[in-house]
Amino acid sequence: MMEIKNLGPGATIGVLGGGQLGRMVILEGRKMGYRFVTLDPAQDCPGSQVADDHIVGGFQDLEAAALLAERTDLIVYEFENIDPKMVDFLKERKQVPQGSQLLRITRHRLHEKQALDQAGIPVSPYQVVHSKEDLVKATEEVGLPGVLKTTTGGYDGKGQWMIHHSDEIEKKLPADLFSSSQVFIYEQFVPFIKELSVVVARSLTGEVKTFPAVVNLHRNHILHMTIAPATVEPAIAQKAEQLAVAVAEQLQVVGLVAVEMFLLPDGEIWVNELAPRPHNSGHYTFDACETSQFAQFLRAVLGLPLQSPRLVSPAVMVNILGEHVPQLMAHWYRLPSAVKVHWYGKQEAKKGRKMGHVTVLAAEVEEALALCDQLPLWSPLTEKERAAVTARCTISEGVEERK
Ligand code: AMP
Repeated sequence: MMEIKNLGPGATIGVLGGGQLGRMVILEGRKMGYRFVTLDPAQDCPGSQVADDHIVGGFQDLEAAALLAERTDLIVYEFENIDPKMVDFLKERKQVPQGSQLLRITRHRLHEKQALDQAGIPVSPYQVVHSKEDLVKATEEVGLPGVLKTTTGGYDGKGQWMIHHSDEIEKKLPADLFSSSQVFIYEQFVPFIKELSVVVARSLTGEVKTFPAVVNLHRNHILHMTIAPATVEPAIAQKAEQLAVAVAEQLQVVGLVAVEMFLLPDGEIWVNELAPRPHNSGHYTFDACETSQFAQFLRAVLGLPLQSPRLVSPAVMVNILGEHVPQLMAHWYRLPSAVKVHWYGKQEAKKGRKMGHVTVLAAEVEEALALCDQLPLWSPLTEKERAAVTARCTISEGVEERK
């Protein structure tokens, strides 16, 4: 257990990264009386807009990091593309409860898979790939179809190639893909029936609390919608939550870990990816849970007792991307009461850029989904999407049944 230094209201928390996750952590922390200093390369970023102070600097800029340490009592990071060496540098100066170990694991797909493997957490079969020859061998051994993924730097589907047939290795992949020293993994395509995720908080004291399992729907590899509670049998939700707790405990997480998973037709659950911080699929907790993931994150890193993550209302969260902004602005004065808008304060509305999100609360998930479909902000769910998110799967003797 780490040494806990009591930091009450009035203490200053440094945030590495000035994105929307940091912004929402700060908004919650301000209610609790903490002060915040952000560090980000951009002057006007979602986090700096709500912080007490801001340092402009890159995530390898040790001078900026030293300044952050000087001005704060405790430091957190809000995204994983931070050099773990910077975290180690800060750790010598101030408390960084999340540490650098989880960051080292989660910013590298291969290290993440290996750590999960070692912890006995099921993942899709995979092989390491350095060259075209490796890839050919991997497709033979792991099987087709499959997905080739870069081990670092990929997000929202970038750095991923779906491979259906062996001839696509020549035809589909960029010619110079293996010319650098990049390492890839090739993994089996998982015929999942649903994508689930669970956000777990683990505090400095070792206390663990999990938010409810949710169902996620992606469009163009970007999270479109999260449904809480997950539209699965309670036994499946429970299994997902237990798996996420096992991840948090085995990896000795301090703060939050978001565990993204695939639910297979036979009821098995495989872990796809981890995030060592608040997660987009936990944004619904702001409006729908007794405690939000952002408040719980702060409580965990401060060593405060964790609070109840109980779901107070069914909710559907939908992301507002750059392309949805004109419609949102046009309807800003006419949004129904159940629609809670969260806006990140980004200036430029680029296609695919996360500009904000809405959470729709209702007595039933179906009702929230119907309201989302009526909102003129994004295209309604297709029949296939609706079936994918709403079908209640029960697993009986290895055969999936849909009610
Ligand atoms: P990732 O960047 O690994 O989270 O992948 C983004 C999305 O691509 C996932 O949420 C899935 O929808 C899809 N995906 C990634 N890997 C696989 C896989 N092995 N099998 C099926 N779908 C996948």
